[in-house]
Amino acid sequence: MPSTQVAIENAWQAGLALPAFNIPYLPMMEPVVQAVVDQDAFALIAVARLEWVKFESKSPAAVMAEFARCGRARHVNLHLDHVPVIDEDGLRVDYLPILAEAIALGYGSLMVDGSRLTLADNIAATRPAVELARRAGIACEAELGAVLGHEAGPLPPYDELFASGKGFTDVGEAQRFAAETGCTWLSVAIGNVHGAISGIFKDQKKVEARLDLAHLARLRAATGLPLVLHGGSGVRQEYVRQAIKAGIAKINIGTEIRQAYEQKLRETGSTAAAQDAVYGRTTWVIRDYLGLAGTRRVIVGEGVAGQDASSKPA
Ligand SMILES: [Zn+2]
Repeated sequence: MPSTQVAIENAWQAGLALPAFNIPYLPMMEPVVQAVVDQDAFALIAVARLEWVKFESKSPAAVMAEFARCGRARHVNLHLDHVPVIDEDGLRVDYLPILAEAIALGYGSLMVDGSRLTLADNIAATRPAVELARRAGIACEAELGAVLGHEAGPLPPYDELFASGKGFTDVGEAQRFAAETGCTWLSVAIGNVHGAISGIFKDQKKVEARLDLAHLARLRAATGLPLVLHGGSGVRQEYVRQAIKAGIAKINIGTEIRQAYEQKLRETGSTAAAQDAVYGRTTWVIRDYLGLAGTRRVIVGEGVAGQDASSKPA
């Protein structure tokens, strides 16, 4: 199977994307993997630090053990999502040992998140993370710009946020950031927001986000990198589909499947029923929302007769 770096590169060249499904509860993994297999897609299973600190995924090691138990390496790789330098509560995180642990466990790619720092500090914090990943031969994602939502309390009114472009990844900064950090992929802010994770807001339906596609095109041209869309749940479908064609090669899906799991578990008390809900929602995301059913061959580079992913225009 290809490395995650190659899979993302193949997707990017072909105008496709890999969904990355977040696993805040370990029993979510099995139905997610099964849905990916059944849709003949290729996806990442992801866990972020806050999902073992604030939810129930326990630890990077526990997630790796569950991943190994589920198997199915032809369809999924494991990704370490958001290891923040400053976390959602404003606290410093000793982030490099967490990345090193994930590398030792065999994660296929990593993300360092210095987006709450100034540009210079983000670059300085991202560099050693990229170096760690590079030495291990794996990809390192970084983030620039403010993808809001994980912080406590309500978001500012979305329409105001979008119209002002406040927090969007700056094009000049992105160019400098990509050149000076050597990151493999860049997570950008173009109107996307994370699902809330705290208090009463955690169960609320996400705002229907829009994306600034012209800004996305400028970021792609400036960085020359596969770009990543966080907060993929709840973006209006026509925007997300166009963004995939315009250079978003990885889409993080968290809220959509987490809420399906939590709600069904609350209603029924049955983990099996909650897992069924996750399977149904993941299937919907891959097939109906993202339109990525049947894309595995192109993404793993097996190609299809008469179709060479690498020869398509970038
Ligand atoms: Zn994120």
